[in-house]
Amino acid sequence: MSINQSPFSRELLQWYDRHARALPWRVPPAERAAGVRPNAYRVWLSEIMLQQTTVAAVKSYFERFVNRWPEVGHLAAAPEAAVMGEWAGLGYYARARNLHACARTVSERFGGEFPQTAAELKTLPGIGDYTSAAIAAIAFDEPAAVVDGNVERVVTRLLALATPLPSAKKAIRTEVERLTPHLRPGDFAQAMMDLGATVCTPTRPACVLCPVRAHCRAAAAGTQEQFPVKPPKAAVPTRKGAAFVAVRRRDGAVWLRRRTEKGMLSGMSEPPSSAWNARADGATGAGAAPFAAAWRLCGPVAHGFTHFKLDLEVWRADVDADPPIDGWWSRSADQAGEALPTLMRKVLKSALADSADSLS
Ligand code: SF4
Repeated sequence: MSINQSPFSRELLQWYDRHARALPWRVPPAERAAGVRPNAYRVWLSEIMLQQTTVAAVKSYFERFVNRWPEVGHLAAAPEAAVMGEWAGLGYYARARNLHACARTVSERFGGEFPQTAAELKTLPGIGDYTSAAIAAIAFDEPAAVVDGNVERVVTRLLALATPLPSAKKAIRTEVERLTPHLRPGDFAQAMMDLGATVCTPTRPACVLCPVRAHCRAAAAGTQEQFPVKPPKAAVPTRKGAAFVAVRRRDGAVWLRRRTEKGMLSGMSEPPSSAWNARADGATGAGAAPFAAAWRLCGPVAHGFTHFKLDLEVWRADVDADPPIDGWWSRSADQAGEALPTLMRKVLKSALADSADSLS
């Protein structure tokens, strides 16, 4: 199950040295090797902007922010309206508010210097597991496991991980922790991101160009596009209920009522029906009828809603008097104009097809 750590990180970093993406917040590997340190403010700003947004969309925003506010102290001192104005168009405005709050916290509590560990970074507004690990690794070379969506995909392929996401997250993190070297952990994190973004892409990964192909189980088996495994769709639950169609003997009219204003099909018309629940314990039988009559079972009606399937037992009674519950008679000719949902039209069709005792 394991991947030989040293050759893996060495081969990946050699590839990164040649193919690293040039990004405005990034220190290129050659400069990094010459001792240039990434600026934590720029790393943080880019990571916040990149949450749920693409590199292409972020670049111009990043340039505008760092031109207008070159240091975290400048951003902290800016009016919130100005920050929100520059952010406009990036979406997720809570992030812009957190960004500003974080800049102020760094200025006021940390003297304008970002804390250097993932644990401390995580105490700042708007910084969670991923962002704290990314800043700690990239800006401060902490060997933190940096796992974004790209890295998840790469690792599930390296391991040919049969566990679907999100259950696989723990195994992925464990593997990234194991793979992350103590030498150049920041470049390693960025190399994994670049590999996922440019080579190990969601569809048609370019395995022939991949620097870690020798370590990849999925590529060896030719199954790379089967990973990450998606979770099976959740089974749709079935609810049960009953509908009671009273048919007036003299003209075949049916008794309808209005559903309550709350819940499914609220305010629509229906023949009286029971609550819809998951029970199959007899509560949907004739005993659940809203009034006593010679109910007879006409058959089941099934209907699919978005989140559940409904099986209704349809009961029919032929009556002469008005039922003792609120409602109205609806004759066949009037039913096209009734606010009857599809389900209730199916119910009526089922009941009226059963005409052994009816006149209509
Ligand atoms: Fe991804 Fe292919 Fe490389 Fe495996 S060999 S990590 S599937 S690009």
